[in-house]
Amino acid sequence: MTLMTSPGPQTASTGLDAETLTMMLETVRDFVTDAIPEERQLQLDHEDECPEDVVRGMCSDQLGIQLLFIPEEYGGMGGGSIDVYRVCEQMARLDLGVATSVLATFLGSDPIFVGATPEQKGQWLTEIAEQGVLYAYGATEPEAGSDLGALKTTATPVTEDGAVTGYRLNGRKQWISNGGIADRYTILASTPAGPSWFVLARGAEGFTQAKPEDKHGIRLSNTAALYLDDVLVPAGNLVGGVEGQGLTQAQQVFGYTRLMVAAFGLGGGWAALDRAIRYSTTRIQGGAPLSEKQGYTHKLIVPHAVRLEAARAYIEYVATRLDAGEGAGGALNNEGAIAKYLATEAGNLAADAAIQAHGGYGYTREYMVEKIKRDVRITTIYEGTSEIMEMTIARGRWQEHLKSAGRYYRDIAAELTALHARHPDVGAGTAALACAALGAILEACRAGRLTRHQHVLFRLGELIAQAEGAAVFAGRAAAALDGTLPEKADHRYDAPAIAAMSRVFARDAAQKVAGEGARWVTGALAPEDAESAHRTFEASLPLGAVRAAQAGLLADLDSVATALYERAAHTPTED
Ligand SMILES: Cc1cc2nc3c(=O)[nH]c(=O)nc-3n(C[C@H](O)[C@H](O)[C@H](O)COP(=O)(O)OP(=O)(O)OC[C@H]3O[C@@H](n4cnc5c(N)ncnc54)[C@H](O)[C@@H]3O)c2cc1C
Repeated sequence: MTLMTSPGPQTASTGLDAETLTMMLETVRDFVTDAIPEERQLQLDHEDECPEDVVRGMCSDQLGIQLLFIPEEYGGMGGGSIDVYRVCEQMARLDLGVATSVLATFLGSDPIFVGATPEQKGQWLTEIAEQGVLYAYGATEPEAGSDLGALKTTATPVTEDGAVTGYRLNGRKQWISNGGIADRYTILASTPAGPSWFVLARGAEGFTQAKPEDKHGIRLSNTAALYLDDVLVPAGNLVGGVEGQGLTQAQQVFGYTRLMVAAFGLGGGWAALDRAIRYSTTRIQGGAPLSEKQGYTHKLIVPHAVRLEAARAYIEYVATRLDAGEGAGGALNNEGAIAKYLATEAGNLAADAAIQAHGGYGYTREYMVEKIKRDVRITTIYEGTSEIMEMTIARGRWQEHLKSAGRYYRDIAAELTALHARHPDVGAGTAALACAALGAILEACRAGRLTRHQHVLFRLGELIAQAEGAAVFAGRAAAALDGTLPEKADHRYDAPAIAAMSRVFARDAAQKVAGEGARWVTGALAPEDAESAHRTFEASLPLGAVRAAQAGLLADLDSVATALYERAAHTPTED
C-alpha cells in the first residue's frame, strides 16, 4: 500500500522550525530584491552578465543561504527537504539565473554529502558553511548528457612505490553552471574501477574554463565548459576514497536534487502567472477588465494555477517523505522524477500562457514575463530532461505493476475511493477513476507487450505522473480540510480553494489517462486487429464514468478564478 493520499506527518521531523523558515524566506526575498531589482535584472539579462557579487553575497555571511543545506555538525543549519523546496521556490520567483548559481553549490556538494569520508566532509562541507566557497557540479560532457555512462573524461592513477598518490584528469565538461566563477569543482571522471567524483580547486595547473555560453535564458547565471588537460589531483580528493562509486552517488541524490529543480519550475511558473493575474485586473478590453472574461481566465490563468498547485502537492508529498527518512539509497528517485516532471512542465506552460495573457506587451523585453519564460525553459532540460523523467517514471512504475500482478494502481484507486467516502469534495473519486484507468492501460500494455515501443513507454510516464498527481493532490486537499497540512507547507490558498483546484486537476487527469491511454494502446495495434482488440480493451476502461465526472467543471473553474483574484486583491505583490 502506498499511502499516496496520506498528508504525511503534521510537522516535518527534520529541518528548520516554521518561524525560522518564514524568516529565511523573507530575508531571501529582501536580499535579492534589494541587490537586483527588476530593472537591474532586465539589464543584466540583456547584457548576459552574471552578478557574481550577488551570488557570493547569498552564499556567504551576508545572506548565508548555503547554511541551509549543510548539516549542523559541519557548521550549517541542517535544513530539511521542505525547507529546501520552499527556499528554492522563493529564489526562482526572484530570478532563476541567480537561483541556478546557488543550486550549483547545492549540487556540487551532493556527491560529498552522500559519498565522502567523515574527514573529507569535515573539510569540504565546513569550508562551504564557514567561507561561502562556491561549487560547480561537473557531470555533463559534450557527448555524455542524458547518458552519463558515456563519459570520456578519464582519471588515471599516479603511483609511487605501488601506492596511488594522485590522479591525472583529462577531458572536457559541458554546460557547467558556475563553471567560470566557482572556487571548487566536483568532477565526474572514469577511473580504472569506473566513474568517480573528484574535488578540484580552481587554478589547478591544466584546468581552464571557457567563456560563458550565450544562452536563451537564465542569463544571470554563469554557464561554461571546463577543460581538463593532465590536471593532477591528490588521491585524497577522490570522494569517498574508493574508485567506481560515482554513478551510484549521483543516483542517490536524484530524489532530492530533482525536487529542487521542481521547486524552480513552480517558482518560475508562479512568478509569471502572478504577473498575468495582476495585469488582467487593470487591462480593459471589450469594456471590462480581462479578469472578468471567462474565455481569458479559464484558458490562460486558471488551468495553470491548478497545474502548478498539483505539482506543489506532489513536491510537498515527496519532501515530507524525504524528511521522514524514506529517501535513503535513492528510494524516492521515481517520486523526485514525478515532482520534477509535473512542476517544470507546469512552470513552462504557465510562463508561456503569461506572455499570451499580456498580449503584445508580453512579447517585449520590457515585461518580466518575457524573461521568465526564457528562464523557466531550462527546468525541463537540466537535472534530467522531461523525456528522461518520462522514461524513469514509466520504468519504475512498470516494475511495480508487474511485481504486484496489476494491483498497484487498483490499490491506490481503492485508497482514493475510501478517501472520497470521507471527503466527497476533494476530487478523490475522479482521481480513483484515473488510477483505475491507468491500471487497465498498463495491463493492456503488458498483454500486448506494448512497452517495447519506446514512445508508448514514455507516454505511460506522462499518464502515470498525471494520475499520481491527481491522487496526491486529493490527499493534500483532504489534509487542508482536516487542518492537518504540515505547518511548513505553503498555505497561500484556503481549503475550499485547494479542493476546487484538486477537482479540476482530477477531471483533467482522468480524461487524459483514459483518453490518451486508449489512444496509445490502440495506436500500437495493426489496423486489421484494431476493431476487436479495441472493443475488449475499451470495456476495461471507466470511460463513461470519466465523462460523467466532468459535470461541474465549469462551476469549479469559476470558483478557482474567484479564489485566485480574491487572493491577488489582498496581496498586491507576490510573497
Ligand atoms: C544552462 C544549463 C546549465 C547546466 N548546468 C549543468 C551543471 O551545472 N552540471 C552538469 O553536469 N550539467 C549541467 N547541464 C547539462 C544538462 O544537465 C544536460 O544538458 C541535460 O542533462 C541533457 O543532456 P544533453 O544536453 O547532452 O542532451 P541529450 O542527452 O543529447 O538529449 C537531447 C534530447 O534527446 C532526448 N533524449 C536523450 N536520451 C534519450 C533517450 N534515451 N531516449 C529518448 N530521448 C532521449 C532528451 O530528452 C533531449 O530532448 C546544464 C545545461 C544547461 C543548458
